[in-house]
Amino acid sequence: MKTKIALGIDIGGTNVAFGVCDDKGNSFYETSVPNASYETPELLIEEIYRLIDQQGLIESIVGIGIGAPNGNINTGTIEYAPNLSWKGSIPLASLFEERFNKKAILTNDANAAAIGEMIYGNAKDLKDFAIITLGTGLGSGIVINGNLVYGHDGFAGEYGHFRIIPNGRTCGCGRKGCLETYVSATGVVRSVTELNSPNKEASALSQMESISSCDVFDLADSGDAFAEEIIDFTAQTLGSALADYACFSSPAAYILFGGIAQNGAPFAAKVKSYMEQHILNIYQNKIEIRVSALHDKNAAVLGACSLVWNELN
Ligand SMILES: [Zn+2]
Repeated sequence: MKTKIALGIDIGGTNVAFGVCDDKGNSFYETSVPNASYETPELLIEEIYRLIDQQGLIESIVGIGIGAPNGNINTGTIEYAPNLSWKGSIPLASLFEERFNKKAILTNDANAAAIGEMIYGNAKDLKDFAIITLGTGLGSGIVINGNLVYGHDGFAGEYGHFRIIPNGRTCGCGRKGCLETYVSATGVVRSVTELNSPNKEASALSQMESISSCDVFDLADSGDAFAEEIIDFTAQTLGSALADYACFSSPAAYILFGGIAQNGAPFAAKVKSYMEQHILNIYQNKIEIRVSALHDKNAAVLGACSLVWNELN
């Protein structure tokens, strides 16, 4: 294949999605593997190499972009990611460079999603926004005046670890009460056991052995009162937090991305309504809540690819 392509990799808490696309965002191959299957990063890299090689695409790759939890653009390492089984500091960018013999750029997975959304998605018209990724955890990427905010050490924008409830739920980061312990796929599932309600006993959720956040959303849609309460609690917790974060960067919009956000307009409308209830008056009715336009295309993979084009230009 003659077209120059970038390899984009999104390392999530559950799956590793990856694919190749050109500088226009045209995708030529995309797939995902469960990351729990790979005990070491080297085994994962080998599998990605094998699958890309099988497609005959290795020679066309001009660079590699990686979005990963706690990925640091300055050092190319993943550091102490609470939702990954690989512990400590992992030099992921250099491990990819060694195997593929191509330049690799690594950043936080939510930052990669923000770039993808800005170049190809629902943030094309925005210079000031924040993306909120709702998956195994809660990630965020903050864009101010068209630039991603990295901070002095590359770790800016960890909204998921604002401690919103003193001595609240224990977080994967080792602290208590972080936003992502309430607002994320795992947070929704924790709410099933940790919230109390007169409707709990009659709920179908009380009879189920294994529950996913999708089950809770589906049951809420079909009128299960306890499931509705959980979704409402989740939207209220997120809306209240987003109201406070507005004080930091005064965004024109928050873009909700990932598993939970796929429940689309009704959840986003609830979040918006709670945000407006709690927000400082100078920000009232100024901030949109949008849902990512790139679920099907995977904004994180596109965003990871766009790291490469950004670097080459
Ligand atoms: Zn935390």
